[in-house]
Amino acid sequence: MLAIEHIFIFILCLVVFTIILTFLFPKSSTHKLEKQKPRAHCPLCNHILEKGKKVHSSQTEIGDTLIETRIKGCVYCVVENNKLKRTCPICKKDVPKEQMILATANPKMSRLQLSIKGCRLCYPQGFTDDDR
Ligand SMILES: [Zn+2]
Ligand SMILES: [Zn+2]
Repeated sequence: MLAIEHIFIFILCLVVFTIILTFLFPKSSTHKLEKQKPRAHCPLCNHILEKGKKVHSSQTEIGDTLIETRIKGCVYCVVENNKLKRTCPICKKDVPKEQMILATANPKMSRLQLSIKGCRLCYPQGFTDDDR
């Protein structure tokens, strides 16, 4: 099957690439890179998100070029008696616990590369009354 062949070639390329990388960057520098690896932050409360701690969000696909992601917050700031300040990364205004911020991604580029548009106050066109 053609598809399986493609996957095989892809894996082969990946292996070759990894070997080249290992030669180019000796152990010391890879170690350094690991240390500098930026940690994920909650876009609302800026709390560091450890491995496995995810941000609550819901995604809506609009056509095949846009995914809207509504970010509710992380495990630290959506909880009932949260004391963390939630601010919109765009307009820096407070975001109430029941409100979300909107981010978009282009699935043709990368589903994980979100660009944050803003909250209900600074990006009202991204919200409907159902989002309350
Ligand atoms: Zn948070
Ligand atoms: Zn905002």
